[in-house]
Amino acid sequence: MRKYVIMGVQGSGKGTQSALLANDLDLVHISVGDIFRWHVKSHTKLGAQVRRLVAAGELVGDDLVEEVVKDRLQQHDWNYGFIIDGFPRNRRQAEFFLESYDIDGVIHLDLPDEEVRRRVLARRLCSRCGMDYNLIAHRPEVEGRCDVCGGELVTRADDTPDALARRLRDYHTKIDPVVELFKGKEYVTSVDARAGKVSVQQTIRARLNLPPYEPAPRPDSAETRTDT
Ligand SMILES: [Zn+2]
Repeated sequence: MRKYVIMGVQGSGKGTQSALLANDLDLVHISVGDIFRWHVKSHTKLGAQVRRLVAAGELVGDDLVEEVVKDRLQQHDWNYGFIIDGFPRNRRQAEFFLESYDIDGVIHLDLPDEEVRRRVLARRLCSRCGMDYNLIAHRPEVEGRCDVCGGELVTRADDTPDALARRLRDYHTKIDPVVELFKGKEYVTSVDARAGKVSVQQTIRARLNLPPYEPAPRPDSAETRTDT
């Protein structure tokens, strides 16, 4: 059984890298963001709570995140292990996590803030079908129009430079100390996330002593996708 934590700022490719590892190694990918999004979409009690916080311009508190993660891990459906993304969010949670679970490694996707800005501010979304685009890595064929449905491409409401600067500040304040704590216990492998998707994945595998990733041969290589 393998248990990993993956950490990295928005736009670092955390979701993509987790999925590649999870698929190949039969790990359960536990994404805190996905769990909350599911609750909001499914109109659960927790979802309503999250919706209220977001509407008030607040972030979901660390305690609520902890509760959700503990609950998720207690389902014990992870026979071959898990990769968790979005937790821990502070030193106390990190310490609890290390004591409770026998973690095999912490993958830290390292991406400079300027590259985060470049990637995130290039994101576009089809206003009609919701398809994601990225003006760096996945450009539409016709500028400003969705390849699939012809809908207008728009920027997400929270992808403004100001909002992103706030998220980056928040991330560094909270998460940098957690990474430091893991580093102190020699769990962390820091990977330069500026490289392409496949090369980042290969570096992760090599560092964790896992068999190399074998991408399925496809004409439109996924190598160029750099968003999460
Ligand atoms: Zn569309």
